[in-house]
Amino acid sequence: MRKAQQHRWIGLLLWGLITVLGGVVLARMELAQQREAFETDARIVHRLLSQRVVQHDAVMATLALLQPAPNASQPEQRLTSLYPQILSVQRRDSGASWPDERLRVAEALSRALRRPALADVDFARGRYQLVLAAEPASFALQMDLRAVVPWSEWPMAPETSPVRVSLAYEGQDWVVQSGRLGEGGWRFGFHKHLAADSQPFDVVASRQVGWRELPWAWMLTWASLVAAVLAGWLAWLRQRAARRRAEELLRLGQVARLNTLGELAAGMAHELNQPLTALLANTQACTRLLGEEPPDLPVIRGAMAQAVEQARRASSVVNRLRRAVERPDLAAQLQAVELQQAVRNALYLLEPEFKRREVAPALALPTAPVAVLAEPVALEQIIHNLLMNALQALEQVPVKERQVTVTVQAEGGQGGITVTDSGPGMTDEVLARLFEPFFTTREAGLGLGLSLCETLATGMGGSLKAAQHAPRGAEFRLSLPLAPVAPEGRP
Ligand code: ADP
Repeated sequence: MRKAQQHRWIGLLLWGLITVLGGVVLARMELAQQREAFETDARIVHRLLSQRVVQHDAVMATLALLQPAPNASQPEQRLTSLYPQILSVQRRDSGASWPDERLRVAEALSRALRRPALADVDFARGRYQLVLAAEPASFALQMDLRAVVPWSEWPMAPETSPVRVSLAYEGQDWVVQSGRLGEGGWRFGFHKHLAADSQPFDVVASRQVGWRELPWAWMLTWASLVAAVLAGWLAWLRQRAARRRAEELLRLGQVARLNTLGELAAGMAHELNQPLTALLANTQACTRLLGEEPPDLPVIRGAMAQAVEQARRASSVVNRLRRAVERPDLAAQLQAVELQQAVRNALYLLEPEFKRREVAPALALPTAPVAVLAEPVALEQIIHNLLMNALQALEQVPVKERQVTVTVQAEGGQGGITVTDSGPGMTDEVLARLFEPFFTTREAGLGLGLSLCETLATGMGGSLKAAQHAPRGAEFRLSLPLAPVAPEGRP
């Protein structure tokens, strides 16, 4: 009983452990996949935006090189229809001045750096200006950030994607797509300069993976799979235990032996019947012949000789049975056997019988091993029979009153096992005949169990005693000589 429960707990523990471990692995795999997807998208975004801003440098360089004539048609204004991100183009011819002081400062910077320079960055409105100093005219472009983003090549769905992307510049932030950033879970980040010195904006991307995004369906499948495998394993263990028990019972010879004894008894009744009938017929004939005047002595002699012959036959049948039951070789097979272990083995074999009758055996086993000299199988057979008898006796009392106690003790050179039960006990008459072969009070009984046990016990140099147990029930005590103790304390 304890073992099955132990297996259940171990199974449950293993299930929890393997499920958690598998869950962690699955979650990590999912997170790694999400992170890779995020980083790929962020790198694509960075490359696309970089390509765009580099294009602005090229446009400005072309303008400076071509130097369109400062006439009324203003051909440079046509750029706005070619590049939607260019909102307007301003020019400053030599001798003229910029309408805005910031444009003048940017032009000076551009002249020093020999590349376009930022003039007015206003991320709140999604605008910035780019100035390139040239001769004779310098140019300024007003850019629209929203149109800078190449939406047609964008790797994500800007409305629904959970990734937040923004451009950052000196504390200003312009959100390209807002994404979904919640609380809890895991956060991935990406931060990188655009690859253009003239427009040194940063691409900032982040992604929050919440608990709900973990692969719960897979984890559940995993947990069920593990549960199924463990349940199968437990069932296999149970089956194996049952098989072992059956094998043990067979080894103990209990089943086989009782069957053999049953057959033997039936065979013996059949074999005895014939000589006894003949004996009866012969002696009756003799009685009748002796009554005749004069008695026919030769015939009487013949009948008596036949009667003697039949009696011999009957006697040999009985002898054959005794030889089958006796085990004269027992004394030669004695070895040190630990009584506690023998009791546990027998209880294990009888576990189903105890369960069926709703009886929980109480054990009083000393912690120090009590080793006796015994033949292990014979010893187990005796304990087995005593326990089985106790269980059968308990069938006659209500479930609540059923008790079996097994006590092991060592005393005066003898190791003892006492089996007591709370059954109906025995009358004095039953007590006196208990160990007789074929004595039974049970309808299905053979009456051979206790006589066999006593034969086995005495064969091993021990004894088996029965007594009434107060206030009620029976008590059987098996005593066997203790095994000599080896120097290091072990039998
Ligand atoms: P069987 O069990 O086949 O009857 P046994 O030799 O084991 O043969 O038992 C002989 C008889 O002893 C039983 O029929 C029963 O009357 C009595 N007996 C044995 N054990 C107990 C017990 N624990 N309580 C009461 N009676 C018992």
